[in-house]
Amino acid sequence: MSHIFPRHTKATLPTIEKGEGVYLYDTNGKKYLDGSGGAAVSCLGHSDPDVIKAIKDQIDAVPFAHTGFFTSKPAEMLADKLIEHAPEGLDRVYLVSGGSEAVESALKLSRQYFLEIGEPSRHRIIARRQSYHGNTLGALAAGGNIWRREPFAPLMIETSHISPCYEYRDRKPEESAYDYGQRIANELEAEILSVGADQVMAFFAEPVVGATSGALPPVEGYFRRIREICDKYGVLLVLDEVMCGMGRTGTLFACEQDDISPDILTVAKGLGAGYQPIGAMLCTDKIYRAIENGTGFFQHGHTYMGHPTASAAALAVLTKLTDGGLAERSRQMGEKLRTGLQNAFAKHPNVGDIRGRGLFIGLEIVKDRDTKTPFDPSLAKGKLLKKATFEAGLICYPMSGTIDGVHGDHILLAPSFIIEDQH
Ligand code: PLP
Repeated sequence: MSHIFPRHTKATLPTIEKGEGVYLYDTNGKKYLDGSGGAAVSCLGHSDPDVIKAIKDQIDAVPFAHTGFFTSKPAEMLADKLIEHAPEGLDRVYLVSGGSEAVESALKLSRQYFLEIGEPSRHRIIARRQSYHGNTLGALAAGGNIWRREPFAPLMIETSHISPCYEYRDRKPEESAYDYGQRIANELEAEILSVGADQVMAFFAEPVVGATSGALPPVEGYFRRIREICDKYGVLLVLDEVMCGMGRTGTLFACEQDDISPDILTVAKGLGAGYQPIGAMLCTDKIYRAIENGTGFFQHGHTYMGHPTASAAALAVLTKLTDGGLAERSRQMGEKLRTGLQNAFAKHPNVGDIRGRGLFIGLEIVKDRDTKTPFDPSLAKGKLLKKATFEAGLICYPMSGTIDGVHGDHILLAPSFIIEDQH
């Protein structure tokens, strides 16, 4: 028996042996179609020769050098290429090892920014109930998943949670999608006023909600209103694109489709595409200059930040997404897959909603399609579906969880962008 400490101590999982294109193979020779890229990570499949070569070349040259002593070409080139394609106004890139680190960095940068500009009372964050921002304590505090938060609540910073933009469940029949989005976005203004604008430093949101909601996109106009409210009260808008960024929704950054730019943006998962662990926090010049012209030191950092080998991998990935047209391919193949699913399940009594953008697609599983009634939580339908599809050789990312007291079963599909029709 191995001494490894697994996540699920009672589960016996197959051992992975090989990855090839969109397939994974275990040590028993069983083949799996990777329909979710883990959790929206493997956007280029499992054997991309260009990314593998970039990693090998960098390891041959120098695998690691600490950012306290050196900068590196791959880290600088990655930052430049990210900014070349980033939403307007984002100007600086802080490289870390994954999503939670990127979100923690965003939290601490928000706080330090307000200290630097002489607004020390701003320390509170607002986020949304249906959200996941990572598992480290700051990121967990931002997230709204009750099940994940509950055991660690005494350790977490105080956060306010407003409603998610969840048209399928919450739009009133007499309301247009646009009006619904405005009404829900206005909850942010009410919450800022209730906490006190001089206390609030940032609003955190995933443009397309991933792990807690199965690829839930906002309605038209929602994020423009959110941007307006943040500007009105001097609150930073932090968009968490750890899951939905890097071409997953059919554009390199998900917020491009909502016509807004954040003050801070986080990415991870698809940035390294599973070839290396890497994440990034992007911020505006205004925030960067506040630190440069103030203490001159961002009081945060990790040993592996700006890791040369991880950066070389991410640069190769990013080149394929942009110059190689793979982000656009995510849009095209996503439309095809979503339409196919909508046709296939048009009358299925237990498929309530099929939604998403690009190759980021969610199916909401319900007990009754007409009334949208969820299944009894004790049935854990999402988990049963995961088991059944896995046994059949298809990997998808299910979710059965209690969010804000409402039970939801979702399946998230996020295959790699090299997926073909026959798959
Ligand atoms: N933010 C979002 C939106 C995520 O989906 C995740 C992970 O699922 C994270 C942050 C945390 O990323 P990581 O698991 O790399 O720490």
